[in-house]
Amino acid sequence: MIELVVATRNTHKTREIQQILGPEFKVRDVLAHPEVSKVPETGTSFEENARIKALAVSKQVPGVVIADDSGLEVDALGGGPGVYSARYAGSKATDTDKVEKLLNELARVRANENVRRARFRCVVAVARNGNLLGTVEGVVEGKIADEIRGESGFGYDPVFIPDGFEQTFGELPAEVKNTISHRGEAIRAAAIKLRQLELA
Ligand code: IMP
Repeated sequence: MIELVVATRNTHKTREIQQILGPEFKVRDVLAHPEVSKVPETGTSFEENARIKALAVSKQVPGVVIADDSGLEVDALGGGPGVYSARYAGSKATDTDKVEKLLNELARVRANENVRRARFRCVVAVARNGNLLGTVEGVVEGKIADEIRGESGFGYDPVFIPDGFEQTFGELPAEVKNTISHRGEAIRAAAIKLRQLELA
């Protein structure tokens, strides 16, 4: 069993990462390490934020640490909310607040079919004992739905329709999301590195 700590307090992310990696891995997050301080996400790219989080946590926790920094890029919003996806409607906002703000913003700019194009992007950084071992990226292309649909997943899932599907990530089963998602792609690439580390 390969053990690792995810540099997040977002239990949705931790659950997805465990589901993607399967029983070969044992995934914990920093909620299991209350001594770990909160890491300010001061970067201007997913990669920078993923590195910052992985390095900061791996200086405080032994073993392999991975950090996922991810978000939604919408063409009609010039690629936003991007790295600000978690804070799009303020630091105390719920997922529903964020999704409603996104739909209102798209209505305000009269976003048509073309500019409702969007993608989720995820960068995963791997670190150990304060050393960065690498980063990998995953992307899933799609579009923003006209209304909120479905209850599974988290964040912007109820308004994101991945290419090749009619349903949102909020309607699709978790296994389908994990197979095609930005996080699925990045975590599977990270798993290759993690297995190499285990053998080294
Ligand atoms: P961070 O990576 O912790 O800065 O936050 C990423 C934010 O992007 C989350 O809080 C969600 O709002 C959004 N996000 C990232 N990945 C997903 C996903 O798989 N589904 C829906 N929303 C996501």
